Amino acid sequence: MYDIIILGGGPAGLSAALYAGRARLSVLLLEKGVIGGQIMQSAEIENYPGSLSRESGESLIGRLSAQAESFGVERIIDTVTAVSAEGKTKVLTGTRGSYSCRALIVATGAAPVRIGCPGERELTGKGVSYCAACDAAFFEGLEVYVVGGGDSAVEEALYLAKFARKVTVIHRRDALRAAKCIQERAFAEPKLSFILDSVIEALQGDGLLERITLRNVKTGARTILAADEADGTFGLFVFIGLHPASELFAGKLDTENGYILTDEGMATNLPGVFAAGDVRKKPLRQVVTAVADGAVAAVCAEKYIEETRG
Ligand code: NAP
Repeated sequence: MYDIIILGGGPAGLSAALYAGRARLSVLLLEKGVIGGQIMQSAEIENYPGSLSRESGESLIGRLSAQAESFGVERIIDTVTAVSAEGKTKVLTGTRGSYSCRALIVATGAAPVRIGCPGERELTGKGVSYCAACDAAFFEGLEVYVVGGGDSAVEEALYLAKFARKVTVIHRRDALRAAKCIQERAFAEPKLSFILDSVIEALQGDGLLERITLRNVKTGARTILAADEADGTFGLFVFIGLHPASELFAGKLDTENGYILTDEGMATNLPGVFAAGDVRKKPLRQVVTAVADGAVAAVCAEKYIEETRG
């Protein structure tokens, strides 16, 4: 029986682990895959307050993770498939074991949204990618397309311009959603161009991505983007938003569009269950707000444990 189990090892979970570890509680961090979450895919973070350089997500996670570990937080890699969180003792069932705790912090984050068009699944890893930091180097000197108009799409397009010959951002509206300062950098990058008012209808290729069918949402006109004959392929990086990983708690925790609702102490509608980071309904999803959520959740979970110990 742990005092606190933290589900998810991104910035929110690691920050919660650090604070709970410092409170000398017994803490288990459960993660289904690689520690770090979404930010591991960011090649450069320029807006984490106090950072001296544009550190990569992987580097920041490395430091966060070592810091949490230094306070005695236990870690297990397991995929949790069921949660019983209504009672005083919370029980999480994974594929490798079952784990109990007094308080649970849900920091499961959010996963990339897929385009959902024909060919996307078949060509993932064969030209279609959701991670510039992971795959940019494969497109050195080639052409690359990026879909999306938010912070992720435009920032990652700028990063991809360091590798690719040409980067084209495809966005479904005539105005970008990304922060103005990111847009300014994008408009100043000579390798970057934009196709606006357009959505991707289909992806095709024989083994590797070779063609993108676009539809102009205003005129209905279809265009085919074909890979340069000499290249034979190009890249398509998809950054069209996030989907909250809250399915395990469907019908148990109050949510809005899948995002878990909490009070300012990160408490959910279930006593002893807290949520932190991107899985929570909030106005700003950044590392700085995720780590803040994690800290608040751990401190409030500690308070809950003290009040209910008996
Ligand atoms: P986002 O802000 O939700 O933007 C998603 C973009 O994809 C929007 O431009 C949206 O178009 C477009 N889109 C959505 N569904 C689409 C579809 N089916 N087909 C085509 N386009 C589609 O997502 P994000 O950029 O991944 O960012 C997620 C969160 O992380 C945001 O809160 C963001 O601020 C934050 N973030 C911050 C930074 C930073 O501060 N440096 C970096 C990365 C991410 P519309 O504009 O038409 O809706």
